[in-house]
Amino acid sequence: MDFDIKYNDFRQEVRTYCEEKIAPHAVEVDREQFYSKDVHKVINDKGWWGSIVPKEYGGLGLSTLEYAIIVEEISRVCGSTGLTFAAHNSLGTYPINAFGTEEQRRKYLPPAAERGALIAFGLTEPEAGSDAGGTKSRAEKTADGYLVNGTKCWITSAEVCEYSIITARTSDEGGVHGISSFVIEKGMEGFSIGKHENKLGCRGSNTAFMHFDDLKISDWHLMGKEGEGFKQFMITLDGGRISIGAMGIGLAQAALELAAKQAEARLENGKPISRHQSVQFMLADMATQVEAARLIMYKTAWLKDNGHKHTKISAMCKLYASEVAHYCTDKAIQILGLDGYTERYPAERYYRDMKLCEIGEGTSEVQRIVIAREVLKELAGA
Ligand SMILES: Cc1cc2nc3c(=O)[nH]c(=O)nc-3n(C[C@H](O)[C@H](O)[C@H](O)COP(=O)(O)OP(=O)(O)OC[C@H]3O[C@@H](n4cnc5c(N)ncnc54)[C@H](O)[C@@H]3O)c2cc1C
Repeated sequence: MDFDIKYNDFRQEVRTYCEEKIAPHAVEVDREQFYSKDVHKVINDKGWWGSIVPKEYGGLGLSTLEYAIIVEEISRVCGSTGLTFAAHNSLGTYPINAFGTEEQRRKYLPPAAERGALIAFGLTEPEAGSDAGGTKSRAEKTADGYLVNGTKCWITSAEVCEYSIITARTSDEGGVHGISSFVIEKGMEGFSIGKHENKLGCRGSNTAFMHFDDLKISDWHLMGKEGEGFKQFMITLDGGRISIGAMGIGLAQAALELAAKQAEARLENGKPISRHQSVQFMLADMATQVEAARLIMYKTAWLKDNGHKHTKISAMCKLYASEVAHYCTDKAIQILGLDGYTERYPAERYYRDMKLCEIGEGTSEVQRIVIAREVLKELAGA
């Protein structure tokens, strides 16, 4: 397990770039709640929008582990950018590469990788959040394609993306096996963007509704075969959960560093508060948890890169890293005291941004359901 040492130089290079180019925008995008074209370009200059896109389609062809380190380092300086970045790569380019046709790969992956044409992931609906199998959007078969009707909500980058992959029901039979997936494009007749969400955290990421009103698409837009959409999206989320785990670790690491620095700087009777054992214990627990979460993330990414099943450990990675992020961002505010309660310090932003990790891509309760189901299957020898 030489992960940390092997990737030290890579991480350092990514960190320096993020600190120089992304960190200066973090306060503004959060305060003004907008998706920054400048930050988009900064990521594009490194080719990171195509992190896990194979080189033959214009990407960098990085491993999941290297990509997760980039998510972590971006999130360490800006949670909003970390979310947009993770969603585009894990939930956008990954499924097109894994499940799309060769023509779809050739059409969508090069612009996604080479100029950051954002790809959104449309799964959640007003009546289908945790229960994604309850998808109500419909794609009725026509002579040469489909007629899509329905609504998706809380979709990251909905207003700023060029392409989206969405799920819709193509059959009432077979439960989740009646759900298919499609790639659609901005500007198609019958596809519109709805309500923009003003959020608690990750406010520099874009979130909105998508509406399909008699959206006509040809058979070409179907991803894989009819009825495979739900399975494709669940496999995609197995990978996506690694990146939300990485995002949580990035935020936790940032909180730890800030708390340690301020514990030394804050004087009480001329002595730093870091002398108090209670403060040291909080720092020790934060550091230990960040280390453990990062190790789970490394192992999960390694299993994925080496073709092993990773459903259970991906859920563990996301669950644990999210809760570590919660603990660390909370304790950072505690150690900073009133300074943690103001926007003069980023502790409160870390805390607000962290909350997404416990909700998006399956809530913490859903992760526990997934883990328990896998544990019971293993015990039953399935
Ligand atoms: C910032 C942000 C960005 C997002 N981006 C995207 C995106 O790009 N694409 C996308 O498709 N979605 C996106 N989502 C939606 C996200 O995936 C959903 O919020 C999530 O799946 C939970 O669904 P819900 O919010 O409807 O909660 P609900 O399903 O209504 O759950 C509410 C509460 O009930 C609990 N609960 C529900 N069912 C169960 C159960 N069976 N057992 C135990 N507890 C249960 C949940 O754990 C939760 O605590 C985003 C969400 C956020 C906050």
